Amino acid sequence: MILRTVEVLGVPIASLTMREAVEQVEEYMEQRTGVLVATANAEMLMRAAQDAELKDILNRAALVVPDGAGTVWAAHYLGYEMPERVAGYDLAQKLLQRSPAQNHRIFFFGAAPGIAEKAKAKAEQLYPGIQIVGVRNGFFTEADNQAIVKQIQEAHPDLLLAALGVPKQEKWLAAHLAELGVPVSIGVGGTFDVMAGVMKRAPRWVQQAKLEWLFRGMLQPKRAGRLLALPRFVLKVMAARKK
Ligand code: UDP
Repeated sequence: MILRTVEVLGVPIASLTMREAVEQVEEYMEQRTGVLVATANAEMLMRAAQDAELKDILNRAALVVPDGAGTVWAAHYLGYEMPERVAGYDLAQKLLQRSPAQNHRIFFFGAAPGIAEKAKAKAEQLYPGIQIVGVRNGFFTEADNQAIVKQIQEAHPDLLLAALGVPKQEKWLAAHLAELGVPVSIGVGGTFDVMAGVMKRAPRWVQQAKLEWLFRGMLQPKRAGRLLALPRFVLKVMAARKK
């Protein structure tokens, strides 16, 4: 597939539909080269603007999909076509759903102890025949890295979903991509929390109103400060276009 990208705040975002994103990721799984896929919302792009390491990782990633209404808005504002939002949670679900038919093996890495196990049970209930070949929680120290890498290597997954939060998941994956030998790794944020039922996604109508960011900020008051990321992002994109 030929990828068209739009640069938003110095990060190339793929302009594609959910269906194309799924096809592209499955193509990477067949090629088995070991690539990183990221899902960029306004918050991640704002962070990348201040974090050169994250920005560099996103620039080297095989694919960065537009997760978030803000990312799609920015592309349009900058004068480019971006067909739809490709939310990381939805992309992960599509890949999980299609994995039994393709005999793909999946590893769940991240979230608090017990959550990935619950997400695995949920996936097994939703997608019969799915092969979740390993789970590991996302709370660890440097000293655990080697054991985690070994656990993932020995499970031989085709797809590694890492839910450590931004930018920890992107940095961890980038640092270990070569030794992991996994065809595709994706940072999926709060996906396991939602699958395990400890976090809620916004109802569909809220997503369609492009207000999922507001819903999340209100649901997790601890992070109300994060709500400012979107207006700040809008201003930054506007300033970038002027230049
Ligand atoms: N998380 C983790 N290890 C950490 C920090 C966070 O596994 O050291 C998990 C956390 O439990 C949650 C997920 O990362 O399941 C996403 O966290 P958050 O919602 O903070 O990330 P975001 O994607 O919104 O940045």
